[in-house]
Amino acid sequence: MPSYQAPLRDFRFAMDEVLDYPRHYAGLPQADDVTPDVVSAILEEGARFTRDVLLPLNQVGDTHGCRLEGDQVVTPPGFKEAYAQYVEGGWPSLSGDPAHEGQGLPTSLGMVLSEMVCSTNLAWGMYPGLSQGAADALRHHGSEAQKAQYLAKLNAGTWTGTMCLTEPQCGTDLGLIKTRAQPDGEEGYRITGTKIFISAGEHDLAENIVHLVLAKLPDAPEGTKGISLFLVPKYLPDAEGGIGERNAVSCGSLEHKMGIHGNATCVMNFDGARGFLVGEPHKGLACMFTMMNVARIGVGIQGLGLMEISFQNALAYARERLQMRALSGAQNTDKPADPIIAHPDVRRMLLTQKALAEGGRMMVLYAAQLADTVECSASDSERESAETLLGLLTPIVKAFLTEVGFEATNEGVQVFGGHGYIREWGMEQYVRDARITRLYEGTTGIQALDLLGRKVLMSQGEALKPFTKQIHKFCKAHEANDAMAEFVTPLAKLNAEWGDLTMAVGMKAMQDREEVGAASVDYLMYAGYVTLAFFWARAAQAAHDALAGNPDDAAFYRAKLDTARFYYQRLLPRTRAHAEMIRAGGDTLMAMSAEDFGRGFAI
Ligand SMILES: Cc1cc2nc3c(=O)[nH]c(=O)nc-3n(C[C@H](O)[C@H](O)[C@H](O)COP(=O)(O)OP(=O)(O)OC[C@H]3O[C@@H](n4cnc5c(N)ncnc54)[C@H](O)[C@@H]3O)c2cc1C
Repeated sequence: MPSYQAPLRDFRFAMDEVLDYPRHYAGLPQADDVTPDVVSAILEEGARFTRDVLLPLNQVGDTHGCRLEGDQVVTPPGFKEAYAQYVEGGWPSLSGDPAHEGQGLPTSLGMVLSEMVCSTNLAWGMYPGLSQGAADALRHHGSEAQKAQYLAKLNAGTWTGTMCLTEPQCGTDLGLIKTRAQPDGEEGYRITGTKIFISAGEHDLAENIVHLVLAKLPDAPEGTKGISLFLVPKYLPDAEGGIGERNAVSCGSLEHKMGIHGNATCVMNFDGARGFLVGEPHKGLACMFTMMNVARIGVGIQGLGLMEISFQNALAYARERLQMRALSGAQNTDKPADPIIAHPDVRRMLLTQKALAEGGRMMVLYAAQLADTVECSASDSERESAETLLGLLTPIVKAFLTEVGFEATNEGVQVFGGHGYIREWGMEQYVRDARITRLYEGTTGIQALDLLGRKVLMSQGEALKPFTKQIHKFCKAHEANDAMAEFVTPLAKLNAEWGDLTMAVGMKAMQDREEVGAASVDYLMYAGYVTLAFFWARAAQAAHDALAGNPDDAAFYRAKLDTARFYYQRLLPRTRAHAEMIRAGGDTLMAMSAEDFGRGFAI
């Protein structure tokens, strides 16, 4: 079975030494509650819970999967008990609204916990993860009565939430939704339709499930402008707010799928189910976006969590597995061969995993700070700037970290050789589990369009500037520091090129809108590598600063510098290929007719 040790030292480095979390927390309205002791307790308890409770269930969940008995989903053995412990420990309420039984701690702390959960049991983690998104959507858009009725239950974890968007004929294009909402003549609506691929749509972990469902009212305008959001509980609350009458929503079947077997992916049938409008009619997509933005960062964290555990286990294996002698001569003369970590190519794979995971952690923790500011800052202007920056980074966190997450988990299998392909070792499960993260919550292609089309070009590049300015400022501040030249010189060049590429695509797009779609995924990957380079440069600076003080754990900081150098010399050059492909434009993509694609099939 794979092992896991929460990367607590690395969390502390990223939070305290790179991103100055102590100052960040001190500036939040909850400053008195987020003491260093509270942060440490959450990190340590989270590490213990995820290692001792969730990790042992990861392969169990993969092997057993979920099963449907009647319309009741039975989760894998141990999942229910683990969820009970999670609820008992007060974890679901961590960053919930204190007015509704939440602990009111910053969102970022929930994200730290989330990484550990995703490392140890991604499929299990999706049950509470979706509840978090549902609670956020209700907190922002629900009526006071809805909040009073549902939020405390979601925060306590006794009820869980889902997001029901997808239908057989529509995933990306929600304008095609067919689910209908008919006013019932009282205060509610009757919801009729079928939703597919609904994660945690039915299960046995909690006493009730609150579905947030996109549907169309009878007078709805066509397309995405006509979508409304409804709350549809599995059991309607009774007069005391407890479990009442069963609603007409049920799980018709479970999908059999490539990974995340422990999470129930349900076909949900709404047969005139009672539902309640959330927010205004026809404005449902905007409300759902609150949930989707939380979920998108959450999916990026899934990519990160899987990279970390895959790396930890690949590293342990590479230190033990003896094969061949090092090219420079035997290192392990008392043994018949050297450990495979002696070989440059194995090191390449391990360092790729390490650099992407540790860099990804800084990226997520930075986005988490922005999320805290958006959520709690008392200053309007601070909130607005954080929102713009978070809007820019969300598709990067989601899509870049899941793309490289898939790569890194694949490298984990490769380090194990043929043993990586064998189920018993657990490494292939990470690849299968990671695969979905590139798809749900908007595919990489859709995140890329969101980044380049909606965020960057629609704002005439304005949305990009606050971030590239930060990078520019950092490079300027360190340009006279020789020790930092190996980082800031290439970073400054890439940062300038980012602006040039944006301009070039923007110009082409004015003539031909297909150019946006042609450039978008390469643009997103380019943006991801430059963003990570910014954080690796900051990490290098923090490591230099720490080493100047002769710390006891100098080896930790030297390893940071080594990893930063590896990132700059061996991963960052990938931007060259992406830049060239962006510049190549869309001609070759659009030249061929749809028919011509298949000419090779016919004789
Ligand atoms: C295991 C699992 C769990 C899921 N959980 C949930 C859930 O909890 N709730 C929920 O509502 N949904 C859920 N989904 C659905 C998921 O979000 C969708 O599958 C995803 O959004 C893609 O939609 P689609 O499958 O219909 O693909 P399509 O929209 O048909 O897309 C097919 C391909 O075309 C591309 N494409 C489509 N339009 C464009 C465009 N305009 N430009 C460029 N490329 C485009 C896509 O990127 C993709 O590569 C889940 C799916 C799975 C498999």
